[in-house]
Amino acid sequence: MKYEHLLKNHQLKATPQRLAIMQLMSQAGHISIEDLYQEIREKFSSISLATLYKNVHTMMDVSLIREVKISGQKTKYEIEKEAHAHVMCKSCGELKDIPFNPLSLLQKSIEMSHYTADEVSIVISGICPECQKK
Ligand SMILES: [Zn+2]
Ligand SMILES: [Zn+2]
Repeated sequence: MKYEHLLKNHQLKATPQRLAIMQLMSQAGHISIEDLYQEIREKFSSISLATLYKNVHTMMDVSLIREVKISGQKTKYEIEKEAHAHVMCKSCGELKDIPFNPLSLLQKSIEMSHYTADEVSIVISGICPECQKK
């Protein structure tokens, strides 16, 4: 199974809970810790929110999971993948990936800052096509 492999590649034990976290997260695309908790409890009824947090953060430390911070909303989490930006619908709350590599586009400006940059996050908010029809 691919997640088992991924976890082991990142020097993490592929525990059933971690595998479930990755599965649920990839199905959802982007998910808040609260929603993830609701879903994972259907499988592991005894898991605590603290344990879930700890697992998610362990996987964030090795860059398997990434945080998506959205102002005015709950932080969501996603499986780490190629660079992209996000669009968010202000009406229904949908959060979607759009292909975009902010780091490459900002290369010149980053060089001028003399920082070593590892993350740029862009969230474009607006109204999704479905909500525009309403
Ligand atoms: Zn919408
Ligand atoms: Zn995303």
